[in-house]
Amino acid sequence: MAQTASDRTGSKMSLTMKILIGMVAGIVVGVIFNTINSDFISTHVVGGFFGMIGAMFVNALKMLVVPLVIFSLLCGVMGIGDIRLLGRVGGKSFGLYICTTAIAIAVAMMLAIIVGPGVGFNMEGVDTSGITGREAPTVWEVFANIVPSNPIAAFANGEMLQIIFYVIVVGIAALSLGDFSKSFAEGCEYMNELMMKIVGMVMAFAPYGVFCLIAKTFSEQGIDLFIPVLAYVGTLVGALFLHLFVTLMVILKLTTGLSPFTFMKKMRSAQIFAFSTASSNATIPVTLRSVTERIGVDNSVASFTVPFGATINMDGTAIMQGVATVFLANVYGIDLGVGGYITVIAMAVLASIGTAGVPGVGLVMLTMVLGQVGLPIEGIALILGVDRLMDMIRTAVNISGDAVVSTIVAKSEGKLDTAVFDDPDAGVYTESDIHFDPEAEERLAKSARPHPHLAE
Ligand code: ASP
Repeated sequence: MAQTASDRTGSKMSLTMKILIGMVAGIVVGVIFNTINSDFISTHVVGGFFGMIGAMFVNALKMLVVPLVIFSLLCGVMGIGDIRLLGRVGGKSFGLYICTTAIAIAVAMMLAIIVGPGVGFNMEGVDTSGITGREAPTVWEVFANIVPSNPIAAFANGEMLQIIFYVIVVGIAALSLGDFSKSFAEGCEYMNELMMKIVGMVMAFAPYGVFCLIAKTFSEQGIDLFIPVLAYVGTLVGALFLHLFVTLMVILKLTTGLSPFTFMKKMRSAQIFAFSTASSNATIPVTLRSVTERIGVDNSVASFTVPFGATINMDGTAIMQGVATVFLANVYGIDLGVGGYITVIAMAVLASIGTAGVPGVGLVMLTMVLGQVGLPIEGIALILGVDRLMDMIRTAVNISGDAVVSTIVAKSEGKLDTAVFDDPDAGVYTESDIHFDPEAEERLAKSARPHPHLAE
């Protein structure tokens, strides 16, 4: 008999609760260590032990990303069967990703213009050495690059758009080979299940990994870094929360009718992972699992929309660029004008398409945006100190945007299981994830039967 999530958790605390405790404990310990300011602690405990555990945890997540995307997307493409549906999912998610990012940055810039952070700021004494700019690739280059000349290199470098392209081509070709692909499809189902199992194993380690990552960041980030740019930080955090809790949730409610509260609850673990790793890419395994098993989006949609979103959809990052541009324009007393603001919106949206979701990439994108509107890129020195914490918050917003769009697209295609969404225990993370899972056995037994879109 299949166990329910509550059977599996028993009377023990849920894993999400433990991860949450790990996060809060990490903040407390980090702030205490930062106040103590001891050489021994910062070298051996923070840089040494916390650094080691944190890096192991992030590496463990990253090692899953490419194989998981490959096999879940292969299963997705072969499971969809209908290539037109695949095209619709691609078109809708692309459109929604671009629109939500444009709305995010437009609202953020309006908020920043109203609040006016940076007015009267004095740049004297700010060390601007070591800040260099980066040229934005053209849209044509970005699109040309989607086709990998060497798929193995694409896998090795984690080039997500190239991987997605290549895997979709293989999936479509496998479908067109019909009966011959039956065992290939079964093998992919098995590999997908296996990867998901490893995600569960990594999750069991998450409370400690999250604790170490967060304790390390907070030990290294003194509060004194925030004081000179408090107006920037306040406006940015306000804009990020506004987008996460109001804009995205209103869009979700209006388009799907689903409860934003349930949605937020089910995304909590993925948001904490994004917050602690500051990487949408490294969070893909957890986002994918939350979106499919907690929210109920079918794998045929999520296996495409989640890795696609981690690469091209960065609402939080765009918000940072909008607020930072207005802030720096105020600091330097430069009036960007409406044309300048529109350029910033267009640049931020375009830049997000071609850049992967990894820590700190938002700052690199900001150099491209500032260059376009003629603001001195040295200004970035001002916000560098607070960027890690801002990166953590905006990454949580980025992956939430990916999940919202995945849910909307799935709902519109009849690929959302509302019974899963409404079940508070569905896909709950338990430490028994590392043990035998009877539900996985059931799923695999099903896939061992003829694949739905392949002839017997
Ligand atoms: N760290 C962000 C992400 O992975 C990107 C950024 O804003 O720097 O989504």
